[in-house]
Amino acid sequence: MGLITTKCLIIGSGPAGYTAGMYLSRAGIDATIISGPQPGGQLTDTHEIENYPGFPDSIGGYDLMELMKKQAEKFGAKNVLGQITEADFSKRPFHLKADNSDEYVADTVIIATGATAKYTGLESEKKYLGQGVSACAVCDGFFYRKKDVIVVGGGDTAVGDALYLSNICNKVYVAVRKPYLRATQILQDRMKAAKNIELLTETVVTEIYGNDGVEGVTVKFRKDTPEEKVRQIPVAGYFAAVGRKPQTDVFSSQIETDEAGYILTNGKDTKTNIEGVFVAGDCADPVYRQAVVAAGTGAKAALDVEKFLNS
Ligand SMILES: Cc1cc2nc3c(=O)[nH]c(=O)nc-3n(C[C@H](O)[C@H](O)[C@H](O)COP(=O)(O)OP(=O)(O)OC[C@H]3O[C@@H](n4cnc5c(N)ncnc54)[C@H](O)[C@@H]3O)c2cc1C
Repeated sequence: MGLITTKCLIIGSGPAGYTAGMYLSRAGIDATIISGPQPGGQLTDTHEIENYPGFPDSIGGYDLMELMKKQAEKFGAKNVLGQITEADFSKRPFHLKADNSDEYVADTVIIATGATAKYTGLESEKKYLGQGVSACAVCDGFFYRKKDVIVVGGGDTAVGDALYLSNICNKVYVAVRKPYLRATQILQDRMKAAKNIELLTETVVTEIYGNDGVEGVTVKFRKDTPEEKVRQIPVAGYFAAVGRKPQTDVFSSQIETDEAGYILTNGKDTKTNIEGVFVAGDCADPVYRQAVVAAGTGAKAALDVEKFLNS
């Protein structure tokens, strides 16, 4: 395509990016959405979404994202393939380059590049992803109602996930490598009070097994315990809670982030530290990480861009 000039370049095609594109184009503002390595974003990894408003009978992740894309295109937003590899935010209009040699000149930018879940690296995590392996308790917990599950990790996310799951599942194991949890004390206290959570310290999951989806995990205890050092625990669900990585490396030398790489705003709107660059979705959200929230911030970013361009 070569050189593309646009009023607003939206980087990322998840719920945040498509929603921003839909709002901007509907307001008559020329918007270009660049897809990135995963057109449609994280939801395309999941079969069934039960908590996106408007779909009482649930909807497939891929189908939902195709509808969002269609709705953005209906009002004129352009979708292009490619991944931004360089960005120069030193002066407006901004200049950006993509991996396919396309170059962009944009009056404004919305960064909506999302975040990816980290896993422990087991081969069997990949094998059963979406078939019992998940990195999102709020998204997938309901599928394990009244069943036994295991959460892997020892921080606030792991304990928060365990508490969330304890209200839905029969029993929740929490496996942590260290002899202690890193989670804040208040969360640990709540976990201790929950009758159906069992903490397994100095424990590593070495294998996830099952014929048709997850049926259990093999764990290795690293300390001398009265129990066997290797044990199989039957569970229907395995939740990785070992952290997430916002996809912001390409911008982090110019855009302010926290130490984990999440883009910072002033908390009131979607402005970043660079005038004319806005942010939406999971790449600025270490807390909520839900599609409806990402879509909501996409709408906010579009409204902020509109105000900025008209001021
Ligand atoms: C397995 C799974 C199941 C989930 N289930 C649910 C659920 O049931 N309900 C729910 O509400 N939420 C669910 N979530 C969470 C939800 O997917 C996210 O909160 C949401 O997708 C975040 O939207 P986003 O637009 O911020 O980012 P993402 O969806 O992560 O999209 C980011 C986009 O940025 C693009 N990108 C990245 N880097 C670049 C670059 N350099 N240049 C250009 N583009 C780039 C990517 O290709 C992608 O298109 C689930 C997540 C996962 C992983």
